[in-house]
Amino acid sequence: MREALPPGSTIGILGGGQLGRMLAVAASRLGLKAHIYSDEPGCPAFDVCAARAVAGYDDEEALLRFAGAVDVVTCEFENVPAKALETAGREASVYPPARAFAVAQDRLEEKEFLRRLGIPVAPFAAVGSRDELDIALKGIGFPALLKTRRFGYDGKGQVVIRSEKDADAALAAIGNVPAILEGMLLFEREISIIAVRGRDGAMRYYDPSENVHQDGILAVSKVPAPSGAACTYAAREIAAKIAGALDYVGVLCVELFQQGDGEPSLVVNEIAPRVHNSGHWTLDACAVSQFENHIRAIAGWPLGDPARHSDAVMTNLIGAEANRWPEFAAAPDTCLHLYGKAEARPGRKMGHLTRLHPKT
Ligand code: AMP
Repeated sequence: MREALPPGSTIGILGGGQLGRMLAVAASRLGLKAHIYSDEPGCPAFDVCAARAVAGYDDEEALLRFAGAVDVVTCEFENVPAKALETAGREASVYPPARAFAVAQDRLEEKEFLRRLGIPVAPFAAVGSRDELDIALKGIGFPALLKTRRFGYDGKGQVVIRSEKDADAALAAIGNVPAILEGMLLFEREISIIAVRGRDGAMRYYDPSENVHQDGILAVSKVPAPSGAACTYAAREIAAKIAGALDYVGVLCVELFQQGDGEPSLVVNEIAPRVHNSGHWTLDACAVSQFENHIRAIAGWPLGDPARHSDAVMTNLIGAEANRWPEFAAAPDTCLHLYGKAEARPGRKMGHLTRLHPKT
């Protein structure tokens, strides 16, 4: 696929969560159709798409049928099985590339990849056994974080080790699976940068946001982050290096720790090969959102302008918070987004608010 996909073409999206929903809406704004593939019959993206497939991510026949019916395939969640991408790739171009998922799915591979690129990361060591944990703790010291190599998200699959006597319990808490031990860093703030890379290698960057987490889940993203211009350029450089090394196409999020207030330095925590919660503010504060730019990139369109026309504070609506929608809907300068999820379980992302302010 070399030519840009014309309006009327179909974007295949693996995954049907809120990110798929927002991608489908962005595609439809450009006259493109979205075909959603999900293993959940009642998923949020099914409300807003032109076509849907309900099947497992290991269902080769269904994946081939899906990929054969669309013009390009992308993915809205990180832990898509490598085999599903490979299967879809037999029938259609798949963006971002499978390698980006392989790197992001394994914290050890991710950290090694970043270190090879000369990008600062927390001190880390592979932990495959109790003995290796002891050795790693000797090298890294306390406090340290033990994280599962795979399937960790929203602070799940990780535990703090404050002294040697926590070690057994920590391994048990993560289920004795292959892990990585990381030094616990002190930092001023957490920021993330959303970048997009086109099929021609062109790149655009959104302004970094400052992110505040609660119970391991993103609570608030603010733009501008108070980190300053030098930090913004450093974050862009890091994102460009990562995207270039992966021959990336689409939206990429890089989550960073900013250390030091005077001469800020950045350490990468993790990368997400997809549109990201910390970029939801771009829907309301930019002419072209992260979702539209992802669609543009994978469809071979010119990338859109990521400039911010307003300052923004994005707040996630978690669980029962979304029941306050009448109040939020009546608030001035507030953009309300609800994901159409039936059940407001604790910890579940039900929607978000973006409050806009004149640009500073
Ligand atoms: P993660 O699942 O890796 O995104 O981590 C979830 C949260 O834990 C991050 O947003 C940070 O607040 C915190 N965290 C993760 N790794 C470290 C680290 N090496 N040092 C300090 N805090 C960390």
